[in-house]
Amino acid sequence: MSQQFGPDYVRAIAPYQAGKPIAEVAREFGLDEASIVKLASNENPFGVPESSRQAMAAAAAELGRYPDANGFELKAALAARYEVPADWITLGNGSNDILEIAAHAFVQAGQAVVYSQYSFAVYALATQGVGARAIVVPARDYGHDLDAMAAAIDADTRLVFIANPNNPTGTFIPAARIEAFLAQVPSSVVVVLDEAYNEYLAPEHQFESSQWVRKYPNLVVSRTFSKAYGLAGLRVGFAIGQPALTDLMNRIRQPFNVNSLAQAAAVAALNDRAFLAKGAANNAAGYRQLVAAFDEIGLEYVPSYGNFVLVKVGADEGAGARVNLALLKQGVIVRPVGAYGLPQWLRISIGLPEENAAFIAALKKALS
Ligand SMILES: *Cc1c(COP(=O)(O)O)cnc(C)c1O
Repeated sequence: MSQQFGPDYVRAIAPYQAGKPIAEVAREFGLDEASIVKLASNENPFGVPESSRQAMAAAAAELGRYPDANGFELKAALAARYEVPADWITLGNGSNDILEIAAHAFVQAGQAVVYSQYSFAVYALATQGVGARAIVVPARDYGHDLDAMAAAIDADTRLVFIANPNNPTGTFIPAARIEAFLAQVPSSVVVVLDEAYNEYLAPEHQFESSQWVRKYPNLVVSRTFSKAYGLAGLRVGFAIGQPALTDLMNRIRQPFNVNSLAQAAAVAALNDRAFLAKGAANNAAGYRQLVAAFDEIGLEYVPSYGNFVLVKVGADEGAGARVNLALLKQGVIVRPVGAYGLPQWLRISIGLPEENAAFIAALKKALS
C-alpha cells in the first residue's frame, strides 16, 4: 500500500469544481473561442470597469514592491462607504479567502460549523479544511431555514455561514428575518453573513447589513468585488466585523493577501456608481428574458435575487449532466450543480441580452 499523507479530514475533501474556462471548452469540443458563451461563474458580463483599468495601469509601475499589507486606501474607502472604523475591515483574496480565514480564526478541529443544504460550496471546504464537523441543515424551498439553523447550533458550534442571496439557488432572506436569527444566536457563535450578490438586490430589498455589526459583536459581513464590480479575476473581497473578530482574522490572513492591482482597482470600482447601475439594469432585464423563456418552455426555476438562475432541466437524475453536455457542444457553458445535490438542475449566470438569447436557443435544441 502506498504511503498516505495528511489528516483524514483533508483526504475527505472533494475539490471545488470551478466553471469550465472558455479555452478548455474550445479545445475539447473543437469550437472557436470567440463563438463561446460563458454563463457559468456569475461573472459580470460587462467585464472590468474602465475606472479600474485606469487605476491598474497607474498602479502597475509599482509592482516591483510588495502591496500595502494593511490595504490603507481600500480600507479607508470601504470605511467611508459603510460608516465603520477602518480597523473593522478585513481584506481578502476574494471573499473565499474571508470564508477560509473565518474558519481558521474561529473554529478548531472537532468543533462544529452550521450551514444550509444547497448553500455555497466553499462553506463545506472551509469547514473540512480545519477538521471541524459540518452541521448541514436541510433547506426549505431551496433556501435557508433559519429557525432550523438556530435550533441546530449545539455546544460545539463556533461558526454559522449564511449566504444572502444564496448561491447556487438565488434565494433571499429579508432583513427582518436575518435580524431575528442574529438575536437568537448565542454570543459565542460567530455568524458570517456572506453577501456576495448584495449589489444586485432591488432597492426595496437593500438593507445596510454592515450596520448590524455595531449591534452584534459576533457578526461578520462578507462582500466581494468579484460579482457586481466585475473584478473576479483580481481576487478581492472584504469583511466587516468588530475588532475582537477582525483582530483574530488579521492574525490568520496572509500578510499580502490582496495584491496591489486588486487594491487599486477595487478603490476605483467602489466609487464607480455608474458601472454598478448599468450592471443592475442589465441583470434585471436579463432575468426577465431568461425566466420568460423558462415559462414558455415549461421549466421550473427558483426565483432568483442574484445574477444567475437555477433551472430544472429534466426529471431524471442524469438531466443536468445531459443537458449541460448538449449545451457545451453548442458552445454554451453553464454550471451543472450535481455536486450540490441538484442533479436535475443547471445554474445559468445572467449575461448580455445576446448571450442570454444564444443560451435560450441552445437550450431549446438541447431539450428537443
Ligand atoms: C461568488 C461567491 C463568493 C465570492 O467569491 P470571491 O470571488 O472569492 O469573492 C462568495 N460567496 C458566494 C455565495 C458566492 O457565490
